Amino acid sequence: MKIRSHLESLPPYTPIEPFEVLSARLGRNPDQIIKLDANENPYGPLPAVRDALAKLDFPHIYPDPESRALRSSLEAFTGVPAENLLAGSGADELIDLQMRVMLEPGDHVLSCPPTFGMYSFDSELNAARCIEVPRHADFSIDMDSIREAVKDYHPKLFFITSPNNPDGSVLDTKTIDALLELPTLIVLDEAYIEFADDELGARLSRIREVPSRENLVVLRTFSKWAGLAGLRIGYGAFPLWLMPTLWKSKQPYNVNVAASVAAHVSLAHADELAKIVALLKNERERLYFALQEISYLQTYPTRSNFILCRVLERDASELKTVLAQEHGIFVRYFNKPGLRDHIRISVGRPQDTDALIKALKE
Ligand code: PMP
Repeated sequence: MKIRSHLESLPPYTPIEPFEVLSARLGRNPDQIIKLDANENPYGPLPAVRDALAKLDFPHIYPDPESRALRSSLEAFTGVPAENLLAGSGADELIDLQMRVMLEPGDHVLSCPPTFGMYSFDSELNAARCIEVPRHADFSIDMDSIREAVKDYHPKLFFITSPNNPDGSVLDTKTIDALLELPTLIVLDEAYIEFADDELGARLSRIREVPSRENLVVLRTFSKWAGLAGLRIGYGAFPLWLMPTLWKSKQPYNVNVAASVAAHVSLAHADELAKIVALLKNERERLYFALQEISYLQTYPTRSNFILCRVLERDASELKTVLAQEHGIFVRYFNKPGLRDHIRISVGRPQDTDALIKALKE
């Protein structure tokens, strides 16, 4: 017996550990853990969402394979017709689905690291090769090298993130326009767009252009702004030519009833969520200025719900461990090209900022 040969050497993706696992390992109650390592929303779902989840009518019946109710409210929320919209079990599922329907073994995918790790991981999972064109030191993208890589490798897909994870920088309109001129399918990951501008990112987002272009896909999620990471619900806007293939390739019941209802009710209360997003954006500013006073951290500007810091003159991995073990504060640690000795801190509640800053000062 033998597994597919390209999977033999594939290193596993390192996921973030949930509260209960951290809690058991550290011997701390979940309420004594400050989780700033996965860009989750510390306020969680709205009360109206919790109520709707408690009253689910048909959890014993398979969900609507077409997520009709949700896609209809997404149409109103995004301005994109429902026929261009597909919901998924997180944006993660849609990244993989996009690859599964497009890639032949040996095909190329382009991405610009440092960025979200799933693009390269899923490429390899799908027997493709991810060509990585590194970002500049300020995390802007290198258009000349991108053009060259497109010429050399003819990538079928180009995954690009705005705001980018892990630094929070946003691509300007002209840069996205230039990417859309390239002969490849641009998958614009807007997982954090709601934190990047007013009105939940509506003006900044490029999602409304999807129906009128052949080569743009935009991915979004409810994990961050709507506080639904644990329920796994995301969506994408895709050109019409792709839709029939996506419909027939996805798992029939990929979006469960709880996730679907939670997302639907979140959209009905988007104005309340916008207030929470505003709260997190204010806290982001407070955290940013507080971090600037920590002499051994160098902060990067951000328009997302996290702040990337370079750790100077001390061991970043040890810092991460001390924060976790002695203070119950979890941050994301990176030690890879372009991110040597970096930590990424998600924006939490005011008390989370206070506890973190106190611990960092100690
Ligand atoms: N894209 C980016 C850039 C992300 O950071 C994440 C989550 N960490 C995702 C997509 C996946 O989001 P979801 O929870 O919807 O799968």
